[in-house]
Amino acid sequence: MHYYSTRNKNDIVNFAAAALTGLAPDGGLFVPENIPLYPAGVKSSLGSMNFNDIAFETIKPYVQGEIPDGSLSDIVESAFTFTAPLIAVKDRYICELFHGPTAAFKDFGARFMARAFSYLRRGEDRPLRILVATSGDTGGAVADGFFEVEGIFVTVLYPKGRVTPLQERQIAGLGKNISALAVEGSFDDCQRLVKAALADEGLKKRMSLSSANSINISRLIPQAVYYSAAAGRAFAGITDPDGEATPRTSLAASPFEFAKTEGLRQTRKSRLPVTLCVPSGNFGNLTAGLYAMRMGAPVSRFIAATNINKTVPDYLDSGEYLARNSQATISNAMDVGAPSNFERMSAHFSWDSMRNIISGVSVSDDETRETIKRIHEQAGYFLDPHSAVGWKGVDKLIDAGKIQEGAVGILCTAHPAKFSETVEPLAGPAPVPDTLLRAMERNVNSKTIPAEVSALTEYLNEIN
Ligand SMILES: *Cc1c(COP(=O)(O)O)cnc(C)c1O
Repeated sequence: MHYYSTRNKNDIVNFAAAALTGLAPDGGLFVPENIPLYPAGVKSSLGSMNFNDIAFETIKPYVQGEIPDGSLSDIVESAFTFTAPLIAVKDRYICELFHGPTAAFKDFGARFMARAFSYLRRGEDRPLRILVATSGDTGGAVADGFFEVEGIFVTVLYPKGRVTPLQERQIAGLGKNISALAVEGSFDDCQRLVKAALADEGLKKRMSLSSANSINISRLIPQAVYYSAAAGRAFAGITDPDGEATPRTSLAASPFEFAKTEGLRQTRKSRLPVTLCVPSGNFGNLTAGLYAMRMGAPVSRFIAATNINKTVPDYLDSGEYLARNSQATISNAMDVGAPSNFERMSAHFSWDSMRNIISGVSVSDDETRETIKRIHEQAGYFLDPHSAVGWKGVDKLIDAGKIQEGAVGILCTAHPAKFSETVEPLAGPAPVPDTLLRAMERNVNSKTIPAEVSALTEYLNEIN
């Protein structure tokens, strides 16, 4: 597969170069030259195939000629040690993307990326050092994704005192090939330090440096997998048994609720393509969904649900793209006013074609809180604030008469226990998954540095 930069169609590279460089030299994002189709036999079996087989078939054409089948299969098995269960809650499907080690969907992309990097750099004797700046969530997923991956070291920079205790343990509690720097400053300072280090010629001579931010194509492609798995199952009317860490209270397991769920399972055997709602911020997740749809997953439509940072819903309405500063909300992983993957979406789709497949909707913090409370009362299911934006987005479009045929599913992007400070006052304590309990037991081991580039370069020179 060839990839080109969104800013220059003639800047063509292979998967390895697109993944290992991340951003194109002209500042553009790499996109695949074409979106492959599933072979007919795969397309018709998406509902019954197991998750890792779907992962293998989905990723294979994007790495063809660069990662042989046997190695891809090993990468997939080692990256996806968890799945994305599709369960029924009230009148819709929920696709739970939070069963990975950091309890949010970014685990899928980060774990695949780490293993792909390791494979693509086989035979190199110089280890790779990856620098990541984080405001909280990405750092944990990247740290965990690369933990114990051979030949790669990760340094995460986070704003000291501005991440939650859980996030700090996810970032700075692993040790081994992962190190953490608590920067005396803001997230923007962390980002500035990383950018300066990556551009430092002296450092680059002494060590292989790279970044692993969310625009990396190797993080995006593996996210197409759970769309195909979810759409395939929903299309066939098959739900998974509740996952081990599925945040339901005992109320939901009562015979009445179960009967209701069984009934839904029957009526949902509609054999119609599904509508999937994606809580969105930087729009990497939704872009991966568009790839899955183009590959042949039975999706009829996407709903892009945002909080009040509604740059993309406004664009879908008006045709005018107006990036703005982000506003803080309780679904803070979606507080993005200038979504970087929009550039990727528009490389593939015009405004008209986007409007034909994506409905935009924006949800306020009050609506988000009301939804968390209501769905817990009615169905015993705990939604995290991001997933609640998705649920409410669907409600709003149903009310507006904009969703007609076929089943509707919501991608739940994080486990509610990860956002207990918001969820607990509204719905009580959600059951905490083992992965988060184990993370809370770790000791924080980070070095504090001032928000100065020289402090980071000194640190890097010392450890190498
Ligand atoms: C990152 C994140 C999002 C937003 O995903 P994008 O790909 O940036 O649109 C939504 N929910 C959670 C919990 C996240 O961590």
